[in-house]
Amino acid sequence: MARVLVIEDEEDLQQVLEYNLRQNGHEPLAALRGAEGLRLARQHRPDLIILDLMLPDLAGTEICKSLKKDPAAKEIPILMLTARGEEIDRVVGFELGADDYVVKPFSVRELMLRVQVILRRGQLESAGRPIHEFGILRVDASAHRVWVEEREIELTALEFKLLVTLLERRDRVQTRTVLLDDVWGMVAEVTTRTVDTHVKRLREKLEGAGRYIETVRGVGYRFAASAETGK
Ligand code: CA
Repeated sequence: MARVLVIEDEEDLQQVLEYNLRQNGHEPLAALRGAEGLRLARQHRPDLIILDLMLPDLAGTEICKSLKKDPAAKEIPILMLTARGEEIDRVVGFELGADDYVVKPFSVRELMLRVQVILRRGQLESAGRPIHEFGILRVDASAHRVWVEEREIELTALEFKLLVTLLERRDRVQTRTVLLDDVWGMVAEVTTRTVDTHVKRLREKLEGAGRYIETVRGVGYRFAASAETGK
């Protein structure tokens, strides 16, 4: 599952893309304006951005430029949607660092294939991420898989992100606010209480390895320093 942000002002097209992304197992995020798209991109750090070149408030090229300059967003691949005849913009799009483009009108099937290609490329690049072994817990950060005592555990994308964030900052306390920022990306409707709920569920799923996630009262959570001290 990948989080895909679509910045496109045509509502019909936006809906078609949203539907098809969901059908392909992805989590779509929609912006009808450029400024909103930029905000969502920085807030949610999607795995891919589908960006229309012609938007009412900001040109797609400007959005692309501004994302590629932003250290927090520059790694996000961008697929540009251009109208027929926008040859110059197309070239500029590539100069600006777009990863691919599709000319309107396009077949949605073709677009979804391009999306898969870009996402797969991203996964290959992240394939160098480590496999963590910690006591009875094993986490493959690039394959998004978790095992406890050699038994595979099913986690949601969010639970997985929460686990890896804690694990990679082992022995350092993470406040609820920091976790909200880094795991949830500060979605407005989420509160610090949500962090507690998710940690609770994550611990339950991890069974015997759940004790590695320690509560630091009044502050937040911490992944144990060593598998032996986890209680
Ligand atoms: Ca447009």
